[in-house]
Amino acid sequence: MKIAVLPGDGIGAEIVVEAIKVLQALDLKLELEQAPVGGTAYAQTGDPLPPQTLALAKAADAILFGAVGDPRYDNIERAKRPEQAILGLRKALGLFANLRPATVHPELADASTIRADVVAGLDILIVRELTGDIYFGQPRGMRTNAAGDREGFDTMHYSEPEIRRIAHAGFKAAMKRGRKLCSVDKANVLETSQLWREVVSSMASEYPEVALSHMYVDNAAMQLIRNPKQFDVIVTGNLFGDILSDEASMLTGSIGMLPSASLDVNGKGLYEPIHGSAPDITGKGIANPLATILSAAMMLRYSLNDEASAARIEAAVSKVLRAGLRTADIARAGERSISTAEMGAAVVAAL
Ligand code: NAD
Repeated sequence: MKIAVLPGDGIGAEIVVEAIKVLQALDLKLELEQAPVGGTAYAQTGDPLPPQTLALAKAADAILFGAVGDPRYDNIERAKRPEQAILGLRKALGLFANLRPATVHPELADASTIRADVVAGLDILIVRELTGDIYFGQPRGMRTNAAGDREGFDTMHYSEPEIRRIAHAGFKAAMKRGRKLCSVDKANVLETSQLWREVVSSMASEYPEVALSHMYVDNAAMQLIRNPKQFDVIVTGNLFGDILSDEASMLTGSIGMLPSASLDVNGKGLYEPIHGSAPDITGKGIANPLATILSAAMMLRYSLNDEASAARIEAAVSKVLRAGLRTADIARAGERSISTAEMGAAVVAAL
């Protein structure tokens, strides 16, 4: 299996190197090849996503990504900004399904702003459609109407094939987990959502082992705070998923812990922590590498179909946390913290 390794900017290089150590400790037959992306690539080539990097990503079975973003390039033309690299990769590779787990290790439950008993042991997955919906629907724009008032408009749009492929991703993810799928929409108000609900419902018979339910998005936003552990997998469109996945990540209270995957129709994927390049702590050796290490575990599960190795990495991370090891971002006030490299080494030792 060929893995494209794209560390990117800021803490990207520091955290990806720890994930690589963990992958190498598993002794799998992986071929890892690294390429520059984001501001690092722009500095070298004038392009945040150089053709060689894109070619490597296309040829690989999966991509392990760090983060992009560098304040030095915040004011250059938009097409050349580091963040364009991730948008370009999603587009070029057809990555339409975004998988965002929100997991709360019992030891870290008091990092959440929500009561510990509500979130301790939380393990949910949000599957968000990434390439359609009101973010891409046409027509859109701003105009002046007949009364002389300015107005803005966007179009919510989903075709049946688009709904089917994201629903398949949701059902398949549920099969790898607790076999419960909740489809979130606004079918009581929106035509797009009504079609969404009809199509998802019609697919339930293809996955008889998965218990399918439906929920309106306003209720889902409420239930995620009231009783998040009722969910296993949530599947939803781009707009609702954007909001719900950020809400769910904050249940955990620790941005340095959360991995993500973006998949194409064949299960090839890009795996990255949900956080950015953290310029404020770059080079200090204190970034938490666990989100990236857990992204590597997701890569093994979803693109390489190696559930056993994925579970081993996750168990090793749990063990390290149970032993009380913490990077600064997840340490309590006054608690001793360890470095990025020490955390990586601790996970390798736990394996
Ligand atoms: P950020 O996620 O980089 O940082 C937010 C805060 O969380 C900072 O205080 C940072 O120190 C902390 N943090 C983040 N990851 C951490 C880790 N692993 N360990 C410990 N602390 C961590 O978000 P930001 O500051 O808004 O953005 C910084 C840059 O990253 C910007 O250029 C932004 O565009 C970019 N960004 C990139 C991605 C991506 O690559 N997918 C995602 C988000 C932001």
